[in-house]
Amino acid sequence: MRIGISACLLGQRVRYDGGHKRQDSLVETVGRHVEWVPVCPEVELGLGTPRPTLRLEGPPGDLRLVMPSRGEDLTRRMRRWAKARVRALGREELAGFVLKKGSPSCGVARLPVYGESGRRTRRDGVGFFAAALLEAFPDLPVEEEHRLCDPALRESFFVRVFATQRLRGLFRPRWRLEELEAFHEREKLLLLAHDPAGRRSLGQLVARGTELPRAELAARYRKGFAQALARRATVAKHAKVLRRCLGYFERRLDAGERAELSACIADYRRRLVPLVVPVTRIKHCARRFALDSLLAQSYLDPHPQELMLRNHA
Ligand code: SF4
Repeated sequence: MRIGISACLLGQRVRYDGGHKRQDSLVETVGRHVEWVPVCPEVELGLGTPRPTLRLEGPPGDLRLVMPSRGEDLTRRMRRWAKARVRALGREELAGFVLKKGSPSCGVARLPVYGESGRRTRRDGVGFFAAALLEAFPDLPVEEEHRLCDPALRESFFVRVFATQRLRGLFRPRWRLEELEAFHEREKLLLLAHDPAGRRSLGQLVARGTELPRAELAARYRKGFAQALARRATVAKHAKVLRRCLGYFERRLDAGERAELSACIADYRRRLVPLVVPVTRIKHCARRFALDSLLAQSYLDPHPQELMLRNHA
């Protein structure tokens, strides 16, 4: 699985001052499971390292990328380069992208924009490469590195990344409708934790699968799936899914075991234990009763356990 990343976050010395912004925890823990695809827009544009700083200027809708110390306007050059680079990245089949905050090339949001007098006028800029990436791949999971320090946002991002990769494995040439039905069945609890209405619409789409041209069906499922998982999975939604899992064992557990599992879900609902606790107990029960349909649910293992993304309360 490949994930794009601003090259300086990997430790490459490509910043304007010849330094880097290596994110150790990201590079080391996640790096064992993915292949990074580094991009440094400013170096690839030929600006070299070290180099004078760039900044965004101009009114909304007419942003420019400028190098104030040389009075150079790099807007057209960067736009042309970014368009071509993003097209090339399309062939890399990326499952996500991590971008550097605050850069006029890589930043995703809230960048400072300056007036010609050199004073900051507002804070709503988007980096030129980031804008091209988001426009070309609106459903690609994209995050700034600092947001990945928040455990909930980090989990949410990697749920989407690994789900994007699973979906990519489905829509190979000559995919069959039964494979899409089986895929949707395996993803149903995960979708329920993020977007119950989206899950319902996707189910209806799959049920009408034979009526639609295959390319349209695949495109609509891809978009709906990405949009559903982009919605936040809250504690309340997770608790609902966990109770749904409990239903799989209703008649198999004795009253004491059932009460214990319910109490564990309630503890999670009150944020006394992290999500990994009830999920581990449910997996244990599913294995004990050989409930293959539940064990096959991506919800139970949406990303590698070693990433410990569900261990936060
Ligand atoms: S933020 Fe982007 S443009 Fe700046 S050094 Fe890092 S990769 Fe290069």
